[in-house]
Amino acid sequence: MSTITNHMPTEELQALDAAHHMHPFTCNGELAQKGARVITRADGVTLTDSEGNQILDAMAGLWCVNIGYGRDELADVAARQMRELPYYNTFFQTTHRPAIELAQKIAELAPGDLNNVFFAGSGSEANDTNLRMVRHYWALKGKPSKSIIISRKNAYHGSTVASGSLGGMSAMHEQGGMPIPDIHHINQPNWWAEGGDTSPEAFGLAKAQELEKAILELGEDRVAAFIAEPVQGAGGVIVPPDSYWPEIQRICDKYEILLIADEVICGFGRTGEWFGSQTVNIRPDIMTIAKGLSSGYSPIGGSIVSDEVASVIATGEFNHGYTYSGHPVAAAVALENLRILEEEDVLGHVQNVAAPYLKEQWESLLDHPLVGEAKIVGMMGSIALTPNKETRAAFAADAGTVGYICRERCFANNLVMRHVGDRMIISPPLVIKLEEIDLLIARARTSLDECYARLKEDGLLQSA
Ligand SMILES: *Cc1c(COP(=O)(O)O)cnc(C)c1O
Repeated sequence: MSTITNHMPTEELQALDAAHHMHPFTCNGELAQKGARVITRADGVTLTDSEGNQILDAMAGLWCVNIGYGRDELADVAARQMRELPYYNTFFQTTHRPAIELAQKIAELAPGDLNNVFFAGSGSEANDTNLRMVRHYWALKGKPSKSIIISRKNAYHGSTVASGSLGGMSAMHEQGGMPIPDIHHINQPNWWAEGGDTSPEAFGLAKAQELEKAILELGEDRVAAFIAEPVQGAGGVIVPPDSYWPEIQRICDKYEILLIADEVICGFGRTGEWFGSQTVNIRPDIMTIAKGLSSGYSPIGGSIVSDEVASVIATGEFNHGYTYSGHPVAAAVALENLRILEEEDVLGHVQNVAAPYLKEQWESLLDHPLVGEAKIVGMMGSIALTPNKETRAAFAADAGTVGYICRERCFANNLVMRHVGDRMIISPPLVIKLEEIDLLIARARTSLDECYARLKEDGLLQSA
């Protein structure tokens, strides 16, 4: 087998990277001093860097490599498709087999009357599509004033202007003139951080009812849609209390507000079902998909649209689309990924083997002095680091200081576990084996111990 390897020393690669490559969501000045870690190969759940370290990737890349790394089938399909038809557009009354087959397959997998797919190159692009589509839908129905989309603080819906505006990341809104008009943010159902003395159930209900309050304040005739992740991912794997989603569904139904489920992380097995909407039992009108759709092997995203919305949109020309909407190579790769998920019963592995074991092991971390809560849904989990479990206190240091120290310990121990503020999060490939879960937990424990020792030494264990 021919292999692609780096023949340049790590420092040379790092110097070139620092000289020419602007990294996303990164302080590039700081990274240039430190040097980026150069990843050279990957197989299963394991990354290899240019120094030969074997790193357990408990984030599946960026929540996307659901079937794991190193599946030759996807490479073969991509090569075959590139030879046969590397590109053609779907704008001018033309189509091709990979886009047709993929749309049909997605319609088959998606619940209810979600039978129509509008393709994009990414999750961000798909949410841009959604924003325009729901506004256009209401305009076509004779209600053009229904243009406001309600979203949530600390949501992540992407990084383009529209999707970044839909998201509720204040750090993103501080730069570049976001959010754009007619997007309204309500609070998130983050009981650990914001629940105070209320019970999780009462808190979940109260946060859902903020949607109703917002609709009444803004005016029913002004609100087009509500968008949310079934389980918030980039916000820190925030699992809503059980009371939350039924109330949201009730409110959307009552006021005829379209429900957009952003399934970019939750979709394709992450929560144990094909879609997170099935796990939390909601009936969205539109789903955003990307990431696990192709297990990250090829950039592709899209919107799965209900028959009702699609039939209204179909009455005229929708002046929207991307050069790479339904790209044949990306579509063929996604199809092969879905074939593997289905034929190898990856969801069965998640439901019966991996998720129950990961839950047990993940929750065992609760006995660590730093860990205040451990949450997990299917194969996405988080722990809250705290100086005081009883009061759910935050650290006196700036939010994220402790999380960053913990993440650096993980990285040093060959474990990719991310931090969001002072929450640590995981989202491993769905195909992870039990002994790899053991390794993940062992490395997480070592890293937590080292982090704890550091905090003690540096006097960082004070509560805010
Ligand atoms: C990653 C993500 C997006 C954006 O997807 P990109 O492919 O990075 O544009 C949107 N929504 C959610 C929930 C995500 O996690």
